[in-house]
Amino acid sequence: MSPLRAAAAAAGGLRGSGPRAAPPARRSRKGAAPRKAAPAAAPPASRHLFSDPAETETLRRNLLAWYDSCKRDLPWRTRAATEPDADRRAYAVWVSEVMLQQTQVATVIDYYNRWMQKWPTLQALAQASLEEVNELWAGLGYYSRGKRLQEAARKVVSELAGRMPRTAEDLQKLLPGVGRYTAAAIASISYGQAAGVVDGNVIRVLCRLRCIGADSSSPAVIDQLWDMANALVDRSRPGDFNQALMELGATVCVPRAPLCGECPVKQHCRARLRVEKELASASQKLLGKATPVPDVEDCGAGGCPLCPPAAEPWDSSLGVTNFPRKAAKKQPRVARAATCVLERRGCHGAPQYLIVQRPSSGLLAGLWEFPSLPLAQDLREEKQREALAEHLQAWIGQPVVAGDLQLVGEVVHIFSHIHQTYVVYSLSLDGDVTLEPASCPSRWVTEEEFRASAVSTAMKKVLKACEKGSSPGQGSKRKRGAKAQGTGSPGPGTQLSLRAFLRPPTAP
Ligand code: SF4
Repeated sequence: MSPLRAAAAAAGGLRGSGPRAAPPARRSRKGAAPRKAAPAAAPPASRHLFSDPAETETLRRNLLAWYDSCKRDLPWRTRAATEPDADRRAYAVWVSEVMLQQTQVATVIDYYNRWMQKWPTLQALAQASLEEVNELWAGLGYYSRGKRLQEAARKVVSELAGRMPRTAEDLQKLLPGVGRYTAAAIASISYGQAAGVVDGNVIRVLCRLRCIGADSSSPAVIDQLWDMANALVDRSRPGDFNQALMELGATVCVPRAPLCGECPVKQHCRARLRVEKELASASQKLLGKATPVPDVEDCGAGGCPLCPPAAEPWDSSLGVTNFPRKAAKKQPRVARAATCVLERRGCHGAPQYLIVQRPSSGLLAGLWEFPSLPLAQDLREEKQREALAEHLQAWIGQPVVAGDLQLVGEVVHIFSHIHQTYVVYSLSLDGDVTLEPASCPSRWVTEEEFRASAVSTAMKKVLKACEKGSSPGQGSKRKRGAKAQGTGSPGPGTQLSLRAFLRPPTAP
């Protein structure tokens, strides 16, 4: 599913599906003339709307026929079609919709199946611990989604007697974390409510169908798209229609190279019509025909709220991908952190790693990670080591010498709004190390336990980087599963252990 999906959902989170209340009028300064109200935006021209009922009917029919024969076989669709209990059905759709926000369908399938196997009902999910939810969600990203889903499930069980709200309006009003998109998707697919949906795929399809070139992330355009989706949705099969529109965007009307020739609604597509007219016009000119096809133009300079801005007119080289258009994305924040894969030998010599739990709010809330600390951007390597050594000391209650930390390299991970670089170090400890009862929980885990824990993808990358070995010039890393070093001095190329370092010097 396109990453735009959540952006659209968020935009849909502009609450309320009905007309918006006018903002309160500003009070003028005493004696000052009241400010002039901004001129009302011109209504969109008919070329941007579906104003012909016969065309709307044909479009619905064509799209649904295509969906019936081409739709992908997905587990949540099967559940929605076969589950007779309305609450279970709505829950199954809800889980899929939350997982699909910001995540590809192919990735979600396995998570969805495991989730539904473990928590087949709202009641089962309500009884799970947050730790269990985080463990299953690990790797899916945007971890707060799983947490919020569980919180809402608890609310349904404890405050609504286990009964899911039955309309899009109530779903949005009563369930925390359920926005306009998710509410409409659940209501249309589970209960057959004729509520349209607007996600990233729908935005793309509608903008192309109706040549909408204004910023598709702006509230004004999003409002228009919601109105359009609500008007278009098929009254007898709303859930299928919504899924068909999203399926079209995901598989045919894709962002970069749409398959217009295979599109079931191409006859209704004004972007395609424009391209065809341009091609026809160009070929007539080439042939020297006296009556060229008239050029297709936008509605009029500056007047139309849905046309491309005058400064960014239609670009013939882009064809239908002129639409949709979005304002430039905000650059992600750049952040650096030092992290250390601290290793000890557990029973039978198997390596164990220290992981610590993050705070219960904020980024990656409640997840486990290798001990890490944020770094200033321009901090020298020597100072990084010192800061990290001090940080580690707080966890293990023993002095750590900065020089013992082996620099592994850098691991970059992009979160939604943060470009995060981890400067990765490793350190091997000999023997048992008692952890300090610190303010956050911590534990030693085997590699297998680490992978089954609620750890982020970024931390899995960090361990992988460590397993690949030290950075050039750092010496070879001890093999996983090898016997721990004895009590003698470390050999050449091995890491100096903390215990060896702490041992008093022996007489020559
Ligand atoms: Fe998208 Fe092309 Fe179909 Fe238009 S004709 S909706 S651009 S795939």
